[in-house]
Parts: sequence; C-alpha cells; structure tokens
Amino acid sequence: MKRSLRALCLGVALLLLCTVFPAAAGTDTVLMMQVGTGALLENGVSAAAPAPIYADNGALLIPLRPIAQRLGAAVGWDAPSRQTTVSRNGVTLRFTDQSWSYQAGGETKSLSAQPRVVNGTLYVPVLALTDLGVSVHVWGYYEGGFCAVSDRALSDAALAQYHAQALKAFGPNEGLFNRTSLTLRLGSRKAWTGGGTVELCEKGGAAVPYQGSDGFLMLPVQACAEALGGTYALDAAGNSTVTLGGHTAVFPAANGYVTVDGARREHAYYGGALRQGTAFCSVYAFASTLGYCAYADGDAILLSAWDLSQRPAFQERAWQAADALILQRYEDAKGFLALTFDDGPSGQLTTRLLDGLKARGVHATFFLCDYRIQTYPGILGRYRAEGHEVGNHSANHATLTACGAEKLASELDATNRSITRLCGAAPTLMRPPGGAYNQTVLSAAGARGMSCIMWSVDTLDWKNRNVSAILQRALPNVRDGDIILMHDMYSTSVDAALSMIDTLQAQGYVFVTVSELAQLKGVSLQPGASYSSIR
Ligand code: ZN
Repeated sequence: MKRSLRALCLGVALLLLCTVFPAAAGTDTVLMMQVGTGALLENGVSAAAPAPIYADNGALLIPLRPIAQRLGAAVGWDAPSRQTTVSRNGVTLRFTDQSWSYQAGGETKSLSAQPRVVNGTLYVPVLALTDLGVSVHVWGYYEGGFCAVSDRALSDAALAQYHAQALKAFGPNEGLFNRTSLTLRLGSRKAWTGGGTVELCEKGGAAVPYQGSDGFLMLPVQACAEALGGTYALDAAGNSTVTLGGHTAVFPAANGYVTVDGARREHAYYGGALRQGTAFCSVYAFASTLGYCAYADGDAILLSAWDLSQRPAFQERAWQAADALILQRYEDAKGFLALTFDDGPSGQLTTRLLDGLKARGVHATFFLCDYRIQTYPGILGRYRAEGHEVGNHSANHATLTACGAEKLASELDATNRSITRLCGAAPTLMRPPGGAYNQTVLSAAGARGMSCIMWSVDTLDWKNRNVSAILQRALPNVRDGDIILMHDMYSTSVDAALSMIDTLQAQGYVFVTVSELAQLKGVSLQPGASYSSIR
C-alpha cells in the first residue's frame, strides 16, 4: 500500500497542480514560496521564512507552523498524542512525523509524503492544507519549484502574475536554470544543458561554435534553438527562422540584420553566414533578439534566459561543465599533445604566443619563474581565462638539486604564492629548471601537491634559434601522448611553435594542457611523481 502510494504521489507531485476551492471568508492572503529559497512573498511583499523542501518522492513539503499562521490558522501541540494541530474555519488537522496519514475533522486521510522535522520545524505535504479551505498551486522542479498558497481561489491570470512576481523576486531554481540555459565551448561539438551534454548536430553533421575572423563568437542557430526548446526552419533562400522564448527571429542567409517579431532590429547584426549549409549567427545577435543573456569565460559561452549577474553559483556550474566539454571534443583526433613553455612570462613574446594559440584553439602549459612573474604580472590573468595551465618553474630558475632545504622551499613557495594570487588557484604541476630533480625535489613538490612534469620531445629551441631547425628536430619524433618542451623566450621559438601547431593540427593532432592530457588518458597525476609523457 505504502509503495504504490509513494509512486502515485511522485507522479502527482511532479505535475502542475491546480486545486480550486470555494473562497473562504478570510484575510486575502497569497503566499508564494520556492524550494530552497528562505523567503516568501506575502501579497507580493518579501519576508524571511524557512524554505519549502522536496520529499524523496518529489512531493513538496512546507514548514507547517509559519505558513499556517500566515493563513490565519491556530497552530497547537497535543502532547498526549504527540500531534501538531492546525485549526481554521472550524476544521482541525492533526499531523505527526510518524505517519503517512493525518486527521482532518476526525477523518483519516493519506499524505503524499511522510511529514518530517527539520531544524525543529514540522514539514508537511503542502496539499494537505487544502483541507483548511485554502487553495494550493504547485509548479514542478523544472518550472522553478514554486508553490502558491492562498486563502481564496486564484484565477489563472492571477496565478501567472504571482508566479512572475516570485520569479522576479527569487530567480530561477537549479531546475529552471538547467532547462533554460545552454553552455557551449568554441571548437566543441558537445554542449551542456544542465540535464547533461547534448550533441550539436544538424542534418547529420556537427555544428561547432567558432570565433569568426572579425572576432565574433559564432553559434550554430538550429542546434542552439533546439537545445533551448525552440523550433527552427530554413527556407529555400537560406534564411533561418527561430521561435523561442515567445519571440520569432529571422536570421538572414548572408550578413545583415535580424528581423524579430516582424520588425527589423537595426542593432542586431547577424555577423555570419551559412557554412556548408549550416546557419551561424553571433552570440550577441542570438541573445539580444531572443531575450537571452550571454556570458563568456575564456572560450566557453553561456546562454541563459536569466540575468545571472547576481547568481555566480549558476555561472560557476556552467563554466565547470564547459571544462568537461573539451574531453568530449575530439573523438576523431589522431593523438593528443601537451605543448609546454618554460621560463616565462616574457612580455611581448608571450603575448604574441597567446594570441597565436587562441587563434588556433590550442591550450598549452606554461611553467613560470617568479622573478619573471614579478616583471609581467598583468599577463597572468590571460592564461587561465584562455584555457591554459600554469605550473611552477622555481622562483629564480635555480638548480633545485643544488639547493638546501630552506632554499628549495622558498624557490617553490614564492612561485606558488604568486600564481595562487594572480591565477586564483595553486599549481598542481612543476618543472625543475634544467630538468634537474632528485628524490628530495620530488618530495618537496609532492608536499605542495605538485607533480613533476618532464618532457618526451626536446625541441632545443633555446639552442637552435632557427625555425626550420627546431621543426626538423621536433616534427618527426612526435607521437600521441608526448609532452613537448619549448621556451617562450625567443622570437624563433614562438614562430616555430605556431608553425608546428599548424602542421600537427593538419595531421589530426590536438593540443591540450598537461592536466587535460592526463584526464584524456585516464591517468591520475600523483603529487611527488614525475612524468615525461602521458600515454
Ligand atoms: Zn627553464
């Protein structure tokens, strides 16, 4: 009996429920609550209150005493029967946290979930309040987890108005955010919708966001519209029509202006065109015409129906999801390579290298010296923002095997301090200058949570200041899982690195950071261990 009741209640609780009761003589109170939000709206005015919760079966539970009291009910405690009593308009309900049933005017009734005591407050299924002659309306998890309790029946129009008011006051819950947001990553054919990753496919192909030559971030129109729950149509002239979020936008086949709900948007420049039959438009055009907010973090893009400027937690979740998208990005890759650069940052040379890596969608790993960081602190912000990894290369390029314990500690700690301060996180990788390490160095690195990263391809770029010599040395020896050693200290090194990337990308190789390489290979990098390749 109990099991079937649970199953039934799960189904019922997830549905949109509207229970209409005759209006009782009362105080005209409408309460709006949201699961997880410790505030309610009483006739549109915000007040602190314990938040509603979901039972394991999905039923929505409310804190009985504060809600009942706001509805003008008397709440009491019957010590002999250990029951909480609620009385209103001559009806008394009796609840206990021991049972799935309750008493209503002497009759025993079933509950959709067992009442619970949380922080000393008894929570009961909100639907039980209908026995007090109040009206209850519940929105599901993916509709924001809201609940309206009122002492009179509300029309659909009034409910919609209260719902909109609560959305404005409380914002989306996680479910609604998930259902109405999309996270993409440049170069990735996967995207994240909160419910999980989706493939950005169109007509059997893959639609991959890219950065246009004019700097616009370009989105596949159909894939984005459909992932967000909209519809898409392509006409014979190549114009794309998207219906989403109550708007209809027409993106023209060639560069031009978007038409929204029949009116031309002068400022919504399309910024794109058909690429192999797939329509792309700029992030800005998509968001501004369809009422979405757009956010970017490095090469990740978040489209949301919500203004998330005050909701850093939702943004952070989207960026974390974007970090994982790179792992699903290159099913067809010939191999994965980690390009590493030592001894920087190097001012203008590093800037030129970062620009070149960005244009090629490459993530690399930079082993930095603190004395260089002190000279060019401004560039540290670019590394993480553009998807690169930063490691420790000692403070002063010291030969760590020749250092005493105190000097060894200060060489590692100074650089870690600067990186933590300027990049927001301590490095988990280090590379000893000159490749010189012993067990003492490994132990010191391990004590600081760092793995020692060596290399399997040495370009000798510091010695051969000649692009073709560097390429001839490196290219024939490259294979899947290699870690390639370079230095962004010389102009020839930057030229050679970018040329090497172009050649190897054309062969199907994909460049990732050392930590990404480890993740792709299923290797868990151990602090205090050394690695010269990851295969
Ligand atoms: Zn070095």
